[in-house]
Amino acid sequence: MRGRRDPFSRPLDRILEALRAGYLDAYSAHPERMGIWAACCPSCRGFSFGRRTLTICESHPGAAVALCCQWGCSEGEILAALYPPPKPPPIADPLVVGRLAVEVLAHRRQAAEGVSA
Ligand SMILES: [Zn+2]
Repeated sequence: MRGRRDPFSRPLDRILEALRAGYLDAYSAHPERMGIWAACCPSCRGFSFGRRTLTICESHPGAAVALCCQWGCSEGEILAALYPPPKPPPIADPLVVGRLAVEVLAHRRQAAEGVSA
């Protein structure tokens, strides 16, 4: 099976999965037309009169997906909101790290000298 494409791995699936991961009431299928979905736009979080403002279109199974926000968000903005870059790891406060280092050294010194804390 090496090198074969998973027939169930579709760009639409990745989009819908990202919507599910980010929103509780993420999307719904068009009641009559295949390949069309509606969602709250992750970029502007737009709802218009109770309707979802993002239209997701897949022309045929496995095709590239078109994203159209009624409020004018570009596909780049929508994708950036769907797949935000990972957050950098938190930077340790140098004062806290220095204080901990002093405490560790003091503890080691006490242990080496045989003094109980
Ligand atoms: Zn939008």
